[in-house]
Amino acid sequence: MSKAQETILEIDLSALTHNFNYLKSKLNAKTKFLAVVKAFAYGSDSIEIAKHLQSLEVDYFAVAYAKEGVVLRDAGITTPIIVLHPQPVNFKTIIERCLEPSIYSAKVLNEFIAVAETESQTNYPVHIKFNTGLNRLGFWENDVEYIVSKLRVTKSIVAKSLFSHLAVSEDINEEEFTNLQVQNFKQIAKEFESKIGYKIWLHLCNTSGVINYPDTHLDMVRCGIGLYGFGNSVKEDQYLKPIASLKSVISQIHKIEKGETVGYNRAYKAKGFEKIATVPIGHADGINRIYGNGNGFVIINSKKAQIIGNVCMDMIMVNITNIDCNEGDEVIIFNTNHKASKFAESANTISYEILTSISQRVKRVFIP
Ligand SMILES: *Cc1c(COP(=O)(O)O)cnc(C)c1O
Repeated sequence: MSKAQETILEIDLSALTHNFNYLKSKLNAKTKFLAVVKAFAYGSDSIEIAKHLQSLEVDYFAVAYAKEGVVLRDAGITTPIIVLHPQPVNFKTIIERCLEPSIYSAKVLNEFIAVAETESQTNYPVHIKFNTGLNRLGFWENDVEYIVSKLRVTKSIVAKSLFSHLAVSEDINEEEFTNLQVQNFKQIAKEFESKIGYKIWLHLCNTSGVINYPDTHLDMVRCGIGLYGFGNSVKEDQYLKPIASLKSVISQIHKIEKGETVGYNRAYKAKGFEKIATVPIGHADGINRIYGNGNGFVIINSKKAQIIGNVCMDMIMVNITNIDCNEGDEVIIFNTNHKASKFAESANTISYEILTSISQRVKRVFIP
């Protein structure tokens, strides 16, 4: 790993391979693996990540929106891709680019059938989403008859899978609730299969579901955060490797006297003689203003440097009074040792949010 000379997000592809193999080792041989690469592959770069996972023979990808799937198709990704949260305005594009929509409501079902018929499709694969307790997207259990009646009278689409999403799979204290979701889903699947008259793939688990509910992997699992190195628990985190390191550099060092202030709104006031460093990363890069005013810290020469004052658009100032360092020295925001999940905690958030917040302005650098 090279020393950063500007702000970079370094992505370790061997760590991605490691995480993929670790998660796969939890599955039995016939369970398929879907890699969730929505939101720029959780901030890392969906094209590079999808290419790497495609080379590892992942079975499926999922993105949230049609546009994200188009980016992957343009990059030459040929693995099937589910669009988890499609909008009717994009249905024609979805078909043109061989993307497979999640069908989560009657409106979406009817509008997708209409577009598939106009586009002269037969048996276009779709994935039927059921709500089993998250109350976010999906049909309800009493919609099964309606969906099947619609599928019976069209040749344009075919239900390739049924799926649902767990609300609290990371929290074992909520096992009872998760088990209710599982039972509800299995009941829906049974009714659906008996009405439609054929077997259909079922999938339910995200990363924490894979880890905490080994009997519920069904025909496919959908892993996102685990691939990127976070297991939502201290125990699992030790087996996974964070793939992304956010690094920067000291642009300038200032020495200030007691009472002098730092940054906009004069939000920080020196308590004595202090040394501060300016670092070229700000809220436009994904360092939310909540990290300012002493909440977050970065690492310089293995020591913690508090983020002081308000986070600016393009930079932060950090306190280096007790750190031996120079202009040009590397600054670690997070890496394998100083985890993104820990950094996120200082702003009351989670790894998912900090990773997906790193803006496109930050250069991605890949390590094979
Ligand atoms: C984002 C998402 C996932 C991935 O969840 P992780 O906790 O990141 O593994 C799986 N399924 C659906 C429907 C999602 O929206």
